[in-house]
Amino acid sequence: MAEAVARALREERHLVVEAGTGTGKTLGYLVPALLSGRRILVSTATRALQEQIARHDLPRLAHALDRPVDAALLKGRSNYVCDLRLMRLKAQPALAGGIEEAALHRVERWLGVTETGDRAECHDLPEAWPGWQEIVSTSETCIGSACEAHARCFVMKARARAEAAQIVIVNHHLFFADLALRTSAAGVLAGAAILAPYEAVIFDEAHTVEDLATHFFGHRLSSRSLEGLARDAQRFSERCPGGGRGLARAGERLLGRAQRFFEALPVGTGRWRLEPEALAAAGQDHEAVAEALSVLADLCAPVAEMGNEEAAALGRRALLAREALALFTLQPDPGLVYWAERRPRSLSLHASPIDVAEILRERLLADVPCVFTSATLSVAGRLDYFLGRIGLDPGSEVETRILDSPFDFSAQAALYLPEDLPPPGSGSHARAVAEETRELAELTLGRAFVLCTSLRNMAAIHRHLASASLPWPLYVQGEAPKAVLLDRFRAVPGILVATQSFWEGVDVPGDALSLVVIDKLPFQAPDDPVVAARIEYLGARGVSPFSAYQLPRAALALKQGFGRLIRSRRDRGIVTVCDARLRTRSYGRYFLETLPPCPSFHSRDALRTWWQGGGASTRLGADRCSSMPHNGS
Ligand code: SF4
Repeated sequence: MAEAVARALREERHLVVEAGTGTGKTLGYLVPALLSGRRILVSTATRALQEQIARHDLPRLAHALDRPVDAALLKGRSNYVCDLRLMRLKAQPALAGGIEEAALHRVERWLGVTETGDRAECHDLPEAWPGWQEIVSTSETCIGSACEAHARCFVMKARARAEAAQIVIVNHHLFFADLALRTSAAGVLAGAAILAPYEAVIFDEAHTVEDLATHFFGHRLSSRSLEGLARDAQRFSERCPGGGRGLARAGERLLGRAQRFFEALPVGTGRWRLEPEALAAAGQDHEAVAEALSVLADLCAPVAEMGNEEAAALGRRALLAREALALFTLQPDPGLVYWAERRPRSLSLHASPIDVAEILRERLLADVPCVFTSATLSVAGRLDYFLGRIGLDPGSEVETRILDSPFDFSAQAALYLPEDLPPPGSGSHARAVAEETRELAELTLGRAFVLCTSLRNMAAIHRHLASASLPWPLYVQGEAPKAVLLDRFRAVPGILVATQSFWEGVDVPGDALSLVVIDKLPFQAPDDPVVAARIEYLGARGVSPFSAYQLPRAALALKQGFGRLIRSRRDRGIVTVCDARLRTRSYGRYFLETLPPCPSFHSRDALRTWWQGGGASTRLGADRCSSMPHNGS
């Protein structure tokens, strides 16, 4: 891998490498990146991997190479305290209403010792503390060099360190936010960018690139962002030069009108498609919000002209929000799908690109050489699906590699496909999954993840397990922050029931995890607005959406879930998929060909023999089934 990465960087070509778990892929790209002498961004999907590279892998590498490593860690601005917002909040205690004081004091104490202002270092701050949003900046609220706290600003210092470093460890959120900004029409004109110029990008956890690009090349407008704008206008009115009574009223008016507008939208749950007629129903309220935004922008303009950067930033935000509002009302772009999402404290409108391949080709791949790597990029032994989704032509412009994991899956893992399960979606399926879990957990003494495809399944399976009086602790996603929950599980392994966020990026090596139960094949919901639009898009072009999109995407997701089990050469365990379609549908083979080869079983007795016999020695005892490439026999 290191040679392929070195060649790609030298020849300025794109490279796609699937590197199975345990191949040492991080060092496989860090070493050639360092030795290239070029300025390179390494981008990860998760902050956890970002931290691991910066705090663990790079220091190890510096030690091994016996030379300093010129690298910096950079996260999005919402990870760093904004000194200015914190100062203002403290100066106007009335506006800090609702913010838990004890947590605020904890932050202040920590600010006295931190050098980075990076939230990851403030260990005793609750993960979901809502006050954090009030003390961080956004690109719209930051007033840059006009800020009185600029010289000691954590965001600016982190960016300065990153600008000077040869290797910068960023995350996909930050990378695509920057790319979308710098390549947008307005960004090109204004020379806007977050990241200083770079010569190549290495994407780790690259299987998430399509989703992140979809998010950042789209548009959003949320009730929360309008409320934030209204609140900031009210705050600013108290210190606005020349008095800000008009601004205070404009903020209040915007708040009320935005609330009415979002309440007038058709009610939905989760994510739903926004048809133009849906917004027509909120027509008058929409115009009222647009007018309130114009008034706010007009009030800010004369103050901004006097050189007040804060007023200029407020005015820009109001105009951008008005533009976004018009975009959702007119829905002018057939390349976008318009949809809405309801979350506990916010309703947001989105316009997402249906196909990001062309966008990535024009705005990324044509510009810099890129290395894409992950443990899960190939389906049924081929990389074509991934290449196509991100805009790479399999024929010419890219070198590809599939590097197998050094782990012996045929000895370390078993796939169990229980027979006689009710079909997924039937009323009794959740109970049957819970029952399978309980039976299998007796073999593995708990130490199990139950990975669910929906919150509803998670709740139902958890409920059935909770009523089963298990002899092991039972954990469920949401009862504590993810990192805390994982620490608890590692300390006292039991059964952890979870959904999407535990399917990937979760590492529990060793004995703590010996069983992964997957409730059903992880097809995306076909009525999700973005998925539905992509299905229509492919169908209209004569391409089968099922085989070109839904099936490979689900196969990759299953491979991710399977990948939680074996994290080191010493790990051993069982994956069970409680979905009969793996055996009964013709596409089941496609899923099985995507998973690492290991023995598969249909009978629990045969599985028990394998487990109790230590795996490798009884491999020939695996069930015989002619359609199973996973059959170890
Ligand atoms: S420069 Fe921007 S981020 Fe930094 S303290 Fe000032 S407003 Fe906050």
